Amino acid sequence: MNSISVGDTNEETSMSVLQAAITGHVPPRLGRIQVKPLFRVHRLRRGSCQGGLAIIEIRKYRTYPYPDQEKALLEQLETCRRLWNRLLAQRKDSWEQERRSNGMFQQKRDLTSWKKANEYLARVYSHVTQDVVLRLDKAFTAFFKRIARYPRFRKFGRYGSMTYPDAYNGSVKLGTSEKNPKLYLSKVGYVPIVVHRDPPEGINKRCTVKKESNKWYAVLEYEVPDPPAPPAPELAPVTRPLGIDLGLKSVISTTEGKHVKPAKPLKAHEKRLKHLQRNLSRTQKGSKNRVKAIVALNQEHQKVAAIRRDVNHKLSRELVNEHDLIVLEDLRVKNMVKNHCVAKSIHDVAWSQLTGFIQYKGARDGRLVVLVSPQYTSMDCSECGHRQEMALDVRTYSCPVCGNTMDRDVNAARNILERGLLQVGRDTTELKPVENGVRLGQRTAPAQPFYEPGTTSKRVG
Ligand SMILES: [Zn+2]
Repeated sequence: MNSISVGDTNEETSMSVLQAAITGHVPPRLGRIQVKPLFRVHRLRRGSCQGGLAIIEIRKYRTYPYPDQEKALLEQLETCRRLWNRLLAQRKDSWEQERRSNGMFQQKRDLTSWKKANEYLARVYSHVTQDVVLRLDKAFTAFFKRIARYPRFRKFGRYGSMTYPDAYNGSVKLGTSEKNPKLYLSKVGYVPIVVHRDPPEGINKRCTVKKESNKWYAVLEYEVPDPPAPPAPELAPVTRPLGIDLGLKSVISTTEGKHVKPAKPLKAHEKRLKHLQRNLSRTQKGSKNRVKAIVALNQEHQKVAAIRRDVNHKLSRELVNEHDLIVLEDLRVKNMVKNHCVAKSIHDVAWSQLTGFIQYKGARDGRLVVLVSPQYTSMDCSECGHRQEMALDVRTYSCPVCGNTMDRDVNAARNILERGLLQVGRDTTELKPVENGVRLGQRTAPAQPFYEPGTTSKRVG
């Protein structure tokens, strides 16, 4: 048995070692930059509200645990990490040796018996440990669906968050005091918290405590009781529709001819990030200076992410406020970033984040947000449907058939809007060209098979 047991090493791990290890998450190097899974502020999820869709609103608050609380939190994270490894080893062994799959329910039962023998496990709130089982099960499900790789053992310090899966049962309580708000966490205590924004009306379903570089956060998920009913696509009045072409030269180009230049926060911070990365690589493993260098680098990365998030929040708010139907491309960013020449720029504009923000804000405000296939959008003429090859550096679309000449991206945005309108069953002719600044014509030329590089990996004829 090569299983790693939770209680194998029972020595008290000192605070500083733990601290160093937990902060020891080394961000990826600039050369092969990866953008971490983006934090979603809101999402739509099937909730318990009348069995229908409920809106989950999420608040992320900064917390400032007292030293003893921080010690407890670090210790609990470490226990969760060891538990993860033990559970993973168990599943791996039982399959490799006995060809028996050890499911989530069996593991939850095993966990109960382990808890009796292990004082560390007993120090963590029981549902938090059960959530580790659930997380592993999700990881395996993703693996079997071939959307993720095989779950990995976590190194010391590589387990940064834990979840209270049923926060409404009293394990988590957000205090109402305005002067000294505290967040009660079972087995941790009353942790000082900064409630910078009121929590939404609703039930607090889950709470995830996480550590990002040297900062602690509590992520609270609320189920909003009465989500606004999304308008039926065919009934909703569409008075100001908008097609959006996502790009690198302009983050968005719209049917109304608006172009928004990208903020490029990564590019602006690249020099400093490289410097910090170099500093880190010069430090010795296990040294205090290494921990400092890691924290500094992490903070710089977070700064970049914060700027990006801020820009996208503001832009998405503006778009959702002004338009009742928004059509975007359903981009396969994962495939597109395989082209390294533009990968960094693509990550830097964060299209998926912007799209996600527009989707949830739209859903909350009762707007229609439609995603359409991005194929041929920049090659087709938005007036007559003629299709032609368009080199990437050609910025103007000139149609040899109907003589339509316009900005390349605006032409694409108009194609996108037309697709979106078709998708939701709207007649394109009901939108008068003058009123909307949108001119939509009937297609005359038949679609010819062309493959536009970068839009998708599949060729559709
Ligand atoms: Zn044309």
